[in-house]
Amino acid sequence: SFGDSDAQREVRANDRQYVFHSWSAQGKIDPIPVAKGEGVRFWDYDGKEYLDFSSQLVNLNLGHQHPGLVKAIQEQAGRLATIQPAMANDVRGELAKRIVERSFDGARSVFFTNGGAEANEYAVRMARQHTGRQKVLARFRSYHGSTATAITLTGESRRWANGTPDAGVVHFFGPYQYRSEFYAETPEQEAERALTHLEHTIQLEGPATIAAIILETVTGTNGIFVPPPGYLAGVRALCDKYGIVLICDEVMAGFGRTGEWFAYQAFDVKPDLVSFAKGVNSGYVPLGGVVISEEIHNSFVEKPFPGGLTYSGHPLGCAAGVATFDIFEEEGIIERVRDLGARVVEPRLRELAEKHPSIGEVRGTGLFWALELVTDRGTRAPLEGDGYNAVIAACKNAGLWPFAAGNRLQIAPPLVISEEDLVRGLDIIDAALDVADGFVAA
Ligand code: PLP
Repeated sequence: SFGDSDAQREVRANDRQYVFHSWSAQGKIDPIPVAKGEGVRFWDYDGKEYLDFSSQLVNLNLGHQHPGLVKAIQEQAGRLATIQPAMANDVRGELAKRIVERSFDGARSVFFTNGGAEANEYAVRMARQHTGRQKVLARFRSYHGSTATAITLTGESRRWANGTPDAGVVHFFGPYQYRSEFYAETPEQEAERALTHLEHTIQLEGPATIAAIILETVTGTNGIFVPPPGYLAGVRALCDKYGIVLICDEVMAGFGRTGEWFAYQAFDVKPDLVSFAKGVNSGYVPLGGVVISEEIHNSFVEKPFPGGLTYSGHPLGCAAGVATFDIFEEEGIIERVRDLGARVVEPRLRELAEKHPSIGEVRGTGLFWALELVTDRGTRAPLEGDGYNAVIAACKNAGLWPFAAGNRLQIAPPLVISEEDLVRGLDIIDAALDVADGFVAA
């Protein structure tokens, strides 16, 4: 509890002594001992409060300790805590049904995994089995997870240290007009030229060798890229033309984050496979999966699918997933996200961009936004190093836990956040941007 310095010391000592942390130099980190989480906030043992504008790792869509999620897990644990995947289970079937019903026309079934990386591994394996082809095209500026194929699909620095365990992966550029590869002046031009680049990549790699194109529908960690008009439909058309499976990675963007159940639903595009995780149950129990089209499902009606996981469709995770659907309906989550995004977040961020010369670009949708920070609006030089660290520190000192990535301040609070807390967090960001402005070239 708060003020218990013995407890705090022990938590910190055990962590530093025995826990090996993700993505870190073990000798250079000092993780905050967290005493408590409630709704959109968490606290350290000294009682310092953080307003979470990052939803932990953009998974805590319904906030900490949501009573509906806690109750569903407790009830399931009391009833049947686990059952292996070859058995039929009530909550597993119920969750698969609800996901399929909220998915694209022609969605047929769900394969459950333990998280997002595995979901992408399985989506790619299904596409390869279905097409008999090996290559997968993925975008630069993407994150798809940290297992063998998923880290190879990833289009940023976290891939580099991991070599290329999957030799079938090829990267291409997606639309990013602010730093365009294509000299585009309008979003439409950017979309069209990015599609030409993609088609040339397909042709030069050999269409008959390409099983799938995978993309984050709305890119998350690498910058919140909302696809420009025509882009996703164009990718779909290329997939149709060349017999390629379209995989939408909705691990971060899915389950309400963009103001849709799934982000692709704003773009009138039908994927063949959709990977999901995080928001499916807010990460209360590890769970992910792949939504599978009828056509791909049918590839495995006679021939067995080669793959499986001991915890595929774990009842505790699935019970929390079913509760997530109920809570989304009861609390009007999708409508809330649309309303708060359009009425509160976007206008305020546009206003901040007028006021703070350190903001190069504002991008986003729903409760999923990025402020791209620069030291010079003319050259668009990114704000990095000490300047960037100072902005993030200013947020944390003021009690806001930001989603920090690259040269961006990203905004992804729990979807249950009140308007008052949202404004409070945006006020803290406003003040922290004064620090960023101090690093702007005179
Ligand atoms: N795909 C996307 C878009 C993600 O953002 C992430 C995680 O951040 C993953 C995949 C990997 O998910 P996990 O960490 O659950 O394996």
